[in-house]
Amino acid sequence: MTRILHRQINADLRVASGGRGVELFDQHGRGYIDASGGAAVSCLGHGHPDVIAALHAQADKLAYAHTSFFTSEAAEALAERLVAGAPAGLDYVYFVSGGSEAVEAALKMARQYFVEIGQPQRATIIARRQSYHGNTLGALAAGGNAWRRAQFQPLLAETHHIDPCYAYRYREPGETEEAYGLRAAQALEDKILELGPETVMAFVAEPVVGATAGAVPAVPGYLRRIREICDRYGVLLLLDEVMCGMGRTGTLHACEQDGVAPDLMTVAKGLGGGYQPIGATFLSGRIYDAFAGGSGLFQHGHTYICHPMACAAALAVQEVIARDRLLDNVKAMGAHLARRLGERFGNHPHVGDVRGRGLFMGVELVEDRGTKAAFDPALKLNARIKHEAMSRGLAVYPAGGTIDGARGDHILLAPPFIIDAATVDTVVERLGEAVDAAI
Ligand code: PMP
Repeated sequence: MTRILHRQINADLRVASGGRGVELFDQHGRGYIDASGGAAVSCLGHGHPDVIAALHAQADKLAYAHTSFFTSEAAEALAERLVAGAPAGLDYVYFVSGGSEAVEAALKMARQYFVEIGQPQRATIIARRQSYHGNTLGALAAGGNAWRRAQFQPLLAETHHIDPCYAYRYREPGETEEAYGLRAAQALEDKILELGPETVMAFVAEPVVGATAGAVPAVPGYLRRIREICDRYGVLLLLDEVMCGMGRTGTLHACEQDGVAPDLMTVAKGLGGGYQPIGATFLSGRIYDAFAGGSGLFQHGHTYICHPMACAAALAVQEVIARDRLLDNVKAMGAHLARRLGERFGNHPHVGDVRGRGLFMGVELVEDRGTKAAFDPALKLNARIKHEAMSRGLAVYPAGGTIDGARGDHILLAPPFIIDAATVDTVVERLGEAVDAAI
């Protein structure tokens, strides 16, 4: 019995009472390997002594100062560090409390940018149907996931969604990856021309589609082509790295691997590693200059933006990742996880695809391996797999994607960057048992 309105009413929730390394413990002392890092959040695992020490030190020094009057040493140091490692041209950063807020801020930056430069008619957002960008109304409008949007129509922003996304390329094997990427990117140009380039504000995309599709990376060349199209029509490119960013795919930012720098970029989740709620929106010097030379104000803000405790936690997380060379472990353990998943599920009758980058992997479940048909959503397969996994001491992110508007099932794996090979083996073993028991 809980008095908390939880996202999943009636789910068989445990009460978490502790965590150490890659393991979480419930109130009865039972352990669960946190194989999805919550939802790609806990990149350092739980109870990391250096982050705890940084939090103690910040709490001793200063917990809060309002941004009308102050930044903080922690925020300044974090901003320096993040901008130094950001894709080219992203020279400024805005700190918020999570992913939806980061996307919301990015959309408002794009909108205000065009107002400041005298093109207020540019107000339309284009995104992909297979996408999730958050749950606040603006971010929800940007996301294309039909079942998430359904109950909240009409949404606020002027948004259009395009297909195909590379997410389900594996269902269309007749085409080369390159041809598919070009065709997928062409859908953006077609949509811009249909709407009128002078009305389009931004294109929003996840470089690796997370919650909605299950760790599906962009096909080679797709994002570079998207960048060219945005430049040609003066449309801002907003890359949402809330889930796939901050080292999850083996490089600090996923878009590095595609050789693309956006105009706006959002991160959250792994930024603070779960030790504090924090997100960030990166913006280009061009957008900053438009605000600075125009109204001199970004007309947005929340009470807890730039929170010193959150910034101190994120700074410590980023320092540990660099000091302990954890991105090397993400690459090595990511390759090991991909190999083990391939061995366990490569010929499984109900697995249609295993894909991902780094420690960000998706296992797609299908009713029929041959036709790749999705399971009937009424089966609630995600919930059953989650239950079976939990009863085997494994916490995995059960996500339902959309395939042509209908729900599909996949399991998202995003373990902490500190995971070792033996624990990866245990994750795959328990997951295999859970899938077999659930189907
Ligand atoms: N964008 C993406 C790509 C996400 O995966 C998420 C969270 N799953 C969000 C935005 C929203 O982040 P938050 O839940 O922290 O608001």
